[in-house]
Amino acid sequence: MRQTNYFYPKNNASCYWKQKSGGCTFCGFTALGGKYAPSKSTPPSRLIRNFRKFTLKNHDFIMKKGYLSICPNGGMFTEVPPELRQEIYSYAGKYGIKLTYDSRAQVVLGGEEWLSHELKQACKDAISEVKVNHIVVFGLEVANDADLVKINKGTALSDFEQAANAVLSKGAGVGVNILIGPPMVEDPIRKAFETVKYAVEVLKATYVYIGACVPMGAKSKEAYNSGAWNPVSPSEASEIFRQIKLLYPDIIVDYSNQAVHMKHRKPLGVVRYSAKEQERQRQNVREMCAAVFGTA
Ligand code: SF4
Repeated sequence: MRQTNYFYPKNNASCYWKQKSGGCTFCGFTALGGKYAPSKSTPPSRLIRNFRKFTLKNHDFIMKKGYLSICPNGGMFTEVPPELRQEIYSYAGKYGIKLTYDSRAQVVLGGEEWLSHELKQACKDAISEVKVNHIVVFGLEVANDADLVKINKGTALSDFEQAANAVLSKGAGVGVNILIGPPMVEDPIRKAFETVKYAVEVLKATYVYIGACVPMGAKSKEAYNSGAWNPVSPSEASEIFRQIKLLYPDIIVDYSNQAVHMKHRKPLGVVRYSAKEQERQRQNVREMCAAVFGTA
């Protein structure tokens, strides 16, 4: 039986940022269109039942990893109901494990003006729930203000810095999600290394989750197929993960190479990369890493 320490609450309520602005351009929940809606929130009792089933099945693995990751359709404080949050906190407390969960930076800073009364209240309460065994994970994606605008993140680097400070001041940990090659972001390999450097050195992140971006949803597929946007290949992505793990052996580095779904294909989906080309790509990644970290 395959076990995991990633819990997806599967609440029908989806990210408030998606509801407000259409969401971040790369987001899978955005690509799902109207499937999730805030009006159809799943009853908390059912979510709690799912969580209990999940922990029964995966408890040994969670204990082995030492942490449990909560991955909602949005953020912990805004898209996970308080009843389920309490259940999760109490499980983590009982077994002495760390919890990682996503939140938009603005949420731990008290919310945004245009939010509904209910969400504003959730944001106001958020920071008081952050405890020393928590790692609050921000969707940094790429440490570049112009690119954050391009991907419709709605968060600037200064917001991430303030939010990281707020979390650290509670004795909790900071984590970040890093996306390699978000749609229409140029120079993705260099930016992946710059982003992890910023996350660890400026935000003091002790957890990073790195994903390779793949065409998701009609717009990014169109850009990929037309050759206008070329996210990294599977070999490039795996070499980036490898280098980051080597660079930061003392922090938790999780990753997922969704790029393998592209099966070593070049844009337009016609040619597979040869073994020689894959090795050339890996060498290129190593050189970029050395340039960013000044070890060339
Ligand atoms: S904030 Fe997160 S969940 Fe919301 S649209 Fe962006 S990536 Fe998706």
